[in-house]
Amino acid sequence: MIPKIEKAPTSEIKSFQEDQLKLLLTYLNKHSVFYKRMFNKHNININDINTLEDLTTIPTTSKDDLQQYNNDFICVPKKEIIDYVTTSGTLGEPVTFALTDNDLKRLAYNEAISFACAGINEDDIIQLMTTIDRRFMAGLAYFLGARELGAGIIRVGNGIPELQWDSILKFKPTYIIVVPSFLLKLIEYAQQNNIDVNASGIKGAICIGESLRNEDFSLNLLATKIKKTWDIELYSTYASTEMNTAFTECEQQQGGHHHPELIIIEILNDEDKPVQEGETGELTITSLGVEAMPLLRFKTGDVVKAHSDACSCGRNTVRLSPVLGRKKQMIKYKGTTLYPPAMHNVLNHFNNIDTYIIEIYQNDIGTDEILLKISAPQPTDTLLQEIKDHFRAKLRVLPKIEFHDKSVIQKLQFPKLSRKPMMVIDKRK
Ligand SMILES: [Zn+2]
Repeated sequence: MIPKIEKAPTSEIKSFQEDQLKLLLTYLNKHSVFYKRMFNKHNININDINTLEDLTTIPTTSKDDLQQYNNDFICVPKKEIIDYVTTSGTLGEPVTFALTDNDLKRLAYNEAISFACAGINEDDIIQLMTTIDRRFMAGLAYFLGARELGAGIIRVGNGIPELQWDSILKFKPTYIIVVPSFLLKLIEYAQQNNIDVNASGIKGAICIGESLRNEDFSLNLLATKIKKTWDIELYSTYASTEMNTAFTECEQQQGGHHHPELIIIEILNDEDKPVQEGETGELTITSLGVEAMPLLRFKTGDVVKAHSDACSCGRNTVRLSPVLGRKKQMIKYKGTTLYPPAMHNVLNHFNNIDTYIIEIYQNDIGTDEILLKISAPQPTDTLLQEIKDHFRAKLRVLPKIEFHDKSVIQKLQFPKLSRKPMMVIDKRK
């Protein structure tokens, strides 16, 4: 189930996207208060925008724009809206995302082709280990996608290893959708309860929220740890509410495939200019076919690299690297550029760490400092030394490290109304 456009020559994909872009600009110019105002303010005549290159003459849209002018982005009357979701905004207040009936159909299509990309078909049963409610988009998208594909789905929700295993043994799902570090919890529970993970019938896991791979697509420590005990295929999927679109790995596992019928992507440098091929930059998206809240040149804040060499799965579309970090969380530390995921990777190496939080702040002279607050059952000097050595070996820099009580760290991880644990606190201005 590979959509025809995804196997087309790149020139055909480009002209297809340019046609879609023109439709979008006409739509925004008619229905979007925010973009109409922006076109006027910057004297943009949408008839002058004909190619993907022309797109770069339009200013980008930021997360702050979305938050400040939230309602001005909604292009449909209220009665057309079916589903409301929210994301955490950068300025504190959550940002509302609205979806029409057609948007939900588009979301179902998006997730169905993403599942198909990872080799799932109508004979499979998927166990959903993420939240489907609490104003999240992802869980609902997975449900709709499974339905569109004709696959079975078991909505267990997140956490509770006992209930997850009960469902796996009872319904025999073939795939699971999961935050990869939770797989370690499932393995632990299985080991304690004499369940053979490799006889469970699970073929693969669609992994969200955390990276599985290093920049060269080799498995990172977390994924290596999982595969050592549980021999299943691990597929990364990367998505966000704002994009309404997922980038999921195919069986080659060489980055998440771009679906050109759903989204236009740009990789931009600090000056909002496209980076050279193969360079890292901020993923910037223009959503296609969205009715309620289409976005034009929206800066996601995620730093990625695009790969455009051919993929042997037959799709002729760009693949995105693992997210290397959040643009805003880039740390300049002792001459090294660093993102929190690299530190997660170092810390995941240790079985004898309970949990941790990374604090980033500025010192008196205005440069970045990193403080790791770690909780461990046995916070010994030996462990501290091992952690330090591992940081020096892997990242060549050593942040400040403190041991704290688990309860202290958990309190920091779950501020008011937070739906998922925060692993990073950025206190810089
Ligand atoms: Zn592929």
